[in-house]
Amino acid sequence: MPMTYDELQKLLQEQEANLTSQLSTIGSEVREDGVGYSNHMADAGSEVFEQARDVGLRQQLRRTLEDVQRALRKFDDGTYGICESCGGIIDVPRLEALPSARYCVRCQTRLEIKR
Ligand SMILES: [Zn+2]
Repeated sequence: MPMTYDELQKLLQEQEANLTSQLSTIGSEVREDGVGYSNHMADAGSEVFEQARDVGLRQQLRRTLEDVQRALRKFDDGTYGICESCGGIIDVPRLEALPSARYCVRCQTRLEIKR
């Protein structure tokens, strides 16, 4: 069954919380002894994150967070699921794979070729 926009919004909100906590962890150079992160939402992503804390990852997290937040704002605007380039509807399966997608598959492909 395809996901509803409500479910996708919830997914994005979870991603936002997750990314924010990852970024705040990565941002603090000093580790607080005795205070673990076990209370954080544990998922596969945070384990990967534990293994590689570097600038590249941090930048990538930040970019992903921006994408997620941009997507969340679209719920307020009522433009979620609409391609930013052609104004067409983005397929729900694509949104399920990438809830923060900004473009439909066709425009994404076109933009990637152009780049
Ligand atoms: Zn498009």
